[in-house]
Amino acid sequence: MIDNPNDPSLRSFIDVSPDSPFPIQNLPFGVFRRDKNSYPHIGIAIGDEILDVSELTEAAPQFLKWPAFLQLNLWHDLSNILGITPTFWREIRQQVSQLLRYDNPALRDNPKLRQRVLTRRSDVRMLMPCHIPNYTDFYSSREHATNVGIMLRGKDNALMPNWVHLPVAYHGRASSIVVSGTDIRRPHGQTKADDADLPTFGPTKSLDFELEIGTLIGTPNDLGTPIPTSQAAEHVFGMVLVNDWSARDIQKWEYQPLGPFLAKNFATSISPWVVTLDALEPFRVAGPKQDPEPLPYLRCEGNWSYDIQLEVWLQTAKMTEPVRISATNAKHLYWNICQQIAHHTINGCNLQTGDLLASGTISGPTPDSLGSMLELAWKGTRPIQLPNGETRVFLQDGDRVTMTGYCQGPGYRVGFGEVTARVLPAVEFGN
Ligand code: MN
Repeated sequence: MIDNPNDPSLRSFIDVSPDSPFPIQNLPFGVFRRDKNSYPHIGIAIGDEILDVSELTEAAPQFLKWPAFLQLNLWHDLSNILGITPTFWREIRQQVSQLLRYDNPALRDNPKLRQRVLTRRSDVRMLMPCHIPNYTDFYSSREHATNVGIMLRGKDNALMPNWVHLPVAYHGRASSIVVSGTDIRRPHGQTKADDADLPTFGPTKSLDFELEIGTLIGTPNDLGTPIPTSQAAEHVFGMVLVNDWSARDIQKWEYQPLGPFLAKNFATSISPWVVTLDALEPFRVAGPKQDPEPLPYLRCEGNWSYDIQLEVWLQTAKMTEPVRISATNAKHLYWNICQQIAHHTINGCNLQTGDLLASGTISGPTPDSLGSMLELAWKGTRPIQLPNGETRVFLQDGDRVTMTGYCQGPGYRVGFGEVTARVLPAVEFGN
């Protein structure tokens, strides 16, 4: 028996196509509802199906060994599972891997149990995976920070002097984080044109997406107790895709001197399946060389960047299918998650179970690998040409943005699925 759930030769008795994001090597956690009247259940994705973990625990408790204290309040989201320890997450993933493998008859040859604990992914509605108490958004892509810097300040001062010394971030808003599939309403706000004396009020004209990955914190740290880089990964449960919606015109007028506010806090979308750090382990790679060398508390041993291929797809209301407008990779990120966590907690700040730490917009080195429309259309000067003749500099009402991400293994993919949402027109205000 192979005991390593990441072994490339592992196969499940459930058919999984080579381009599915959810082979037996992945086993991401999510929360779903079978219909409007049923309770949320915890599930693990496998191919086109979901192993209903809540149902399995009730129907056949011998298969998954939960700690006794979890019991009743386990079922509504992942928060309780996240808050325990990595040893426990590993054991559950190991047990599920054993149960789903092709050579284990326990579930494979029990049609009645299969009927009860396996359900089609297309038949359910995905919910938020856990309560997210806090949201921090980093700014860790050097290419993105440089591009935005060039647009704002010119080539010579593109990167602020602090940027190469610390992972810059701001505290975002957790209450407006929504799960994939939730439509996004175009926000109103104040803007001021460069040649105008006074600001005006109205729907944003510069609605944008930001392609990011997000880290969900599992084990918390105590207030006053920093997490060193060497232990940071043990505090991470897993990762999701993030679309951090932005209103560039509102941002430009409001952001000084305290940073992003209403241009950012109206919505942030996340993908529903949480890919565990354990499943991503085989895809760790070296990050970009850091020069100057970071201060000692930010140095870290080993490779902590992740080789995750990322794509952005756009479908306007007039298009019959989406078109890919960007392709990049998470490995381009300059600051890694261990450095982000060490920096976030170096002053004693306490991370809580379920906290979302997003990477910041991920842009690559080429014009087709940029993670926002601001950059793809270069502040409106290079409109994106779509196959049906339409063009875009920012998002229009009815546009659908879909982001995907996956790690390519030999013959299989450890993927995230997608985060997708459509832009709805602004609400009408009576004046
Ligand atoms: Mn962002």
